[in-house]
Amino acid sequence: MTATDKYSAETITQVRPWTESLFSFRTTRDRGYRFVPGQFARLGVTSAADGSTVWRAYSIASAAHDEHLEFFSVVVPGGAFTSRLSQLREGDRILVERKSYGFLTTDRFAAGKDLWMLATGTGLAPFLSILHDFETWERYENLVLVQSVRTQSELAYEDLIDGFDKSEYYAEFAHKLRYVRIVTREPVPGALRDRVTRLLVSGVLEENVGIRLDHDRSRIMLCGNPEMVEDSRQILVERGYRLSRRGEPGHLAVENYW
Ligand code: NAP
Repeated sequence: MTATDKYSAETITQVRPWTESLFSFRTTRDRGYRFVPGQFARLGVTSAADGSTVWRAYSIASAAHDEHLEFFSVVVPGGAFTSRLSQLREGDRILVERKSYGFLTTDRFAAGKDLWMLATGTGLAPFLSILHDFETWERYENLVLVQSVRTQSELAYEDLIDGFDKSEYYAEFAHKLRYVRIVTREPVPGALRDRVTRLLVSGVLEENVGIRLDHDRSRIMLCGNPEMVEDSRQILVERGYRLSRRGEPGHLAVENYW
């Protein structure tokens, strides 16, 4: 594996399993690699057996100012890429395309007051990067992070999210964050149990957060399960929220995960 104009060869520096099928990993970062929080990288894993490389898009979970890159992944049963990826260990190589991609970035929005980030599963990753961007905390009065997972054990990064108020750098802003856990397949104290789409329609999500969705104030990002993204988008568009387009800032930005 050698670096080219198109990609750099990086090293896995840390692997963190969350459950049997969920894990995070860090890689070294090329000094020239630039991205906007919310964007994704394209990663390549080369098979030791036949030398073939498989490429996939992965949202970046780490901050734009971090020296490393961090990613959050699920093992897709029978998936060519994630089954290779899940076998990687510290010291192994991974290819990272030099270009970063995607439009799930806050610079797509007209000015707003409340930033809503709705994630299912590993769709949390881009919001972790966005939450480590000081501009996000400075620009918005309220940040709402909704993390929907099937089981409590899948509430990855819960401690990090709960810990912003203890962080040397973020504590002064941390009162702005409202963190809503949704665990759909088992009862968990303090977590909502219904799908985010139903909670949106019923108004329970807004009640739980204590903030109403509002065209002037709310900017909404959706990331994760493609059906959740599509259904939530429809619900919100019917309520008059507009998708951000190139050169036409709106209220909504979305990213499908597979
Ligand atoms: P998931 O099925 O996406 O569920 C995560 C959360 O989203 C759950 O709380 C789930 O609720 C909720 N949800 C699912 N569909 C929804 C919808 N239409 N509207 C509202 N909420 C919805 O689970 P996951 O563990 O993140 O991913 C599941 C599987 O998807 C993986 O095992 C993998 O096979 C595949 N996947 C593939 C890729 C890829 O890159 N190919 C990436 C990620 C995941 P419920 O419990 O009610 O379903």
